[in-house]
Amino acid sequence: MIRAKVMTGALPSRTGALHASRFGQEDPCDGCERPIDPGQVEYRFEWPESGSIQLHVGCAAIWQVERLHVRPLPSRDEEPPDPAA
Ligand SMILES: [Zn+2]
Repeated sequence: MIRAKVMTGALPSRTGALHASRFGQEDPCDGCERPIDPGQVEYRFEWPESGSIQLHVGCAAIWQVERLHVRPLPSRDEEPPDPAA
C-alpha cells in the first residue's frame, strides 16, 4: 500500500522535515490508514509547500525505503534528520 502511494504521488517521494515524533493521537496513518494509537509512536513530516503527513514509525521506515526505489539517487540534502538525535 505504501509503495503504491509513493508511485501514485499520494505519499511524497521527497522526504520532508521531521517535524515531530510523539505518541499517537488516534489520527489515521497516511501510510496504512489505520489509527496511530497512543501506545505507538507517530512521526510527522512537513513540507512548507504541501502540508504534512503522519505515519506510524514502522510505516515511516517503509516509506523511506520505498521512496528511494522511486527516486534511486536522492541528494544528501534530502535525507531526513536522524530521529534519534
Ligand atoms: Zn501506518
